Amino acid sequence: EIINKNPNEVIMKLMDSGIMATINQDVEYDTAALIAADYNISLELEEVEEIDLAEVYELNAEDDPSTLVKRAPVVTVMGHVDHGKTSLLDAIRNTGVAVGEAGGITQHIGASEIMHRNEKIVFLDTPGHEAFTSLRARGAKITDIAILVVAADDGVMPQTIEAIDHSKAAGVPIIVAINKIDKPNANPDRVKQELSEKGVIIEEWGGDVIAVPVSAKTGEGLETLLEMVLLVAEVLELKANPDRPGVGTVIEAKVVKGRGTVASIILEKGTLTVGDPVVAGITYGKVKALYNDKGKKVKRIGPSTSVEIDGLAEVPQAGEKIYVTPDEKTARYIAEKNAITFREKSLNKNVGITLEDLFSKIKEGEIKELNIIIKADVHGSVEAIKQSLLKLSNEEVRVNIIHANVGAISESDVTLASASSAIIIGFNVRPSSNVQYLAEQEGVDIRTYRIIYDAINDVEAAMTGMLDPTF
Ligand code: GDP
Repeated sequence: EIINKNPNEVIMKLMDSGIMATINQDVEYDTAALIAADYNISLELEEVEEIDLAEVYELNAEDDPSTLVKRAPVVTVMGHVDHGKTSLLDAIRNTGVAVGEAGGITQHIGASEIMHRNEKIVFLDTPGHEAFTSLRARGAKITDIAILVVAADDGVMPQTIEAIDHSKAAGVPIIVAINKIDKPNANPDRVKQELSEKGVIIEEWGGDVIAVPVSAKTGEGLETLLEMVLLVAEVLELKANPDRPGVGTVIEAKVVKGRGTVASIILEKGTLTVGDPVVAGITYGKVKALYNDKGKKVKRIGPSTSVEIDGLAEVPQAGEKIYVTPDEKTARYIAEKNAITFREKSLNKNVGITLEDLFSKIKEGEIKELNIIIKADVHGSVEAIKQSLLKLSNEEVRVNIIHANVGAISESDVTLASASSAIIIGFNVRPSSNVQYLAEQEGVDIRTYRIIYDAINDVEAAMTGMLDPTF
């Protein structure tokens, strides 16, 4: 375009020099110079200044314990559909907004902040374990505490179990909110009973999980729930160094007319100020403006704060880390380096665990635990496969069943597998073509069987290096 020549003509010239190029291909400088000379076009090589990143990474090193101060918890609400996740979030936001504060309307910026007894709590706006785990599959660990909503008139349902397993796989503590207690047919004791059957033992029953009866409709119990969030946060001793270049995670990003790229982030540590140069994966820029969850412009933010950032060149991926860099040149340089790594990675995609390469990874000491997700058509098969697989653990590798349930293999299973480097075993169930496609994208190995013995046999063979190659 710049030299105003027909691409086919340029490709022909390249072919004459023995280079079989396509229209999308980069060519080396020397080759470009030959073609340029042919057209009488002067060509200049742009010098890319090497930047010593060691100094930049030094800035991102672990913080000295003496620099750490308390930070607010980041909470995700999870649970089965229609159990009241959205209602609960809305009710909490309303109680948390000081009376008289500009209408109290929260913007949707991916996360919102509330104050309870002068302490801040950050809530992720998108409830559900799917969002939680897809962020985790991208390497982002933002959630400190999960609130598991279970409707008292409905009890533990399939997505309740998924939410429990997704939080457990991430090592995130659960607080149970037994919701809808205003309903006449509410039965909180049944919820407690069913939870204990799923390994979630509440305090009242001698376990360590806090359960709070609430009603998103009447507001009953919400104060206690927030109290408990702060209590668990206290126990977790959440801390961050506020006096360092900011590091955060992108939770959402989009293009907004008149503003350009807008990224919602949660800052995890350090400070982020308007004017700071930042890099997020393969994109970078200078922070033009910061907006808080009330839509107000802010100048500077600290740890555990959610904001929208204007000023990135392109839309970053959700789950991408965002870093403040010493200057814009460095931000651009890191983004370019990331782009190269990204391209290399997408060339050899299969990053997950497969039964085929399991044995070599065990031998190399790369894995010590084999994470497995089991899906089957009936409960009896789930249990039978689970028990048999657990028995395969040996000194070198431990079998870990991170999720086992009745039902088809879902996108949520694939995301969990991707986030936890797990394989999926399906018995008399299959993934839909969408799910299969996602699994291929994420490099997740799905194995489906019709005979239990075959499933057990394959895993055992893979663990001992005796698996026959399939295709
Ligand atoms: P989500 O799918 O988990 O986000 O559930 P929603 O928040 O959309 O709630 C599902 C339905 O339950 C809606 O009709 C709500 O009005 C209702 N609901 C939610 N919480 C309560 C509650 O505490 N009491 C009663 N009676 N209804 C509730």
